[in-house]
Amino acid sequence: MIRKNIESLKRRIATACSRIGRNPADIKVIAVTKTTTPEMIKEVMECGITDIGENRLQDATTKFNHLRQSGFSFYAHMVGHLQTNKALKAVEAFDLIQSVDSLKIASEINRQAAKKGKIQDILVQVNTSFEASKFGLKPEETLKVIKDIFQFQNLKVKGLMTIAPLLDDSDKARPYFRKLRELKNSINDLGLRAYGLEVLSMGMTDDFEVAIEEGSNMIRVGRLIFEG
Ligand SMILES: *Cc1c(COP(=O)(O)O)cnc(C)c1O
Repeated sequence: MIRKNIESLKRRIATACSRIGRNPADIKVIAVTKTTTPEMIKEVMECGITDIGENRLQDATTKFNHLRQSGFSFYAHMVGHLQTNKALKAVEAFDLIQSVDSLKIASEINRQAAKKGKIQDILVQVNTSFEASKFGLKPEETLKVIKDIFQFQNLKVKGLMTIAPLLDDSDKARPYFRKLRELKNSINDLGLRAYGLEVLSMGMTDDFEVAIEEGSNMIRVGRLIFEG
């Protein structure tokens, strides 16, 4: 089932890309594993997916150890909200922390990464839909926070992440994705660093095609891969 689901996902990515003249190879797929078993994740990796996302720290460490012991190598993404007291564990377990949504958590990740002698790749999570209940920086405060994060020696800001609101029609998510793309472009236009922000992590099972049309180069897919 998983193999079929991934084939279908790849076809849909290719179709979305062809509509706007993008190369499907430029879209990185993160398999978000949530409550799935290591056996299911192995099947995903056997289909050629090398990036896995977790939204809870406690599940991740055991799963990752199990997978590594079975000979799999992969790139681990933290996509869920992170509390400051979990920063050390996150630095130990994850290659890319996608959910950095405050200066406080960035500072703590930086401190723990420095202790470990690691340069931690991060994304800054932006709340593009103004929903009070969700995590993420407000778009208008993002530039200021990123400028401050740029001071941290042990963090590398690779790009931005957003979660669109739940909507009855995926096309309605378009403005939120567009907002994230424009924000990334406007930050890059300032040329504050030798490197620019590259990653736009946006799009999930219900809205990845619209996200790709709006410039996403990293989609985080759970249900479509594991449930079909
Ligand atoms: C669960 C989750 C996903 C995947 O969602 P699906 O709708 O199952 O594809 C992506 N990003 C985050 C942050 C998640 O928590």
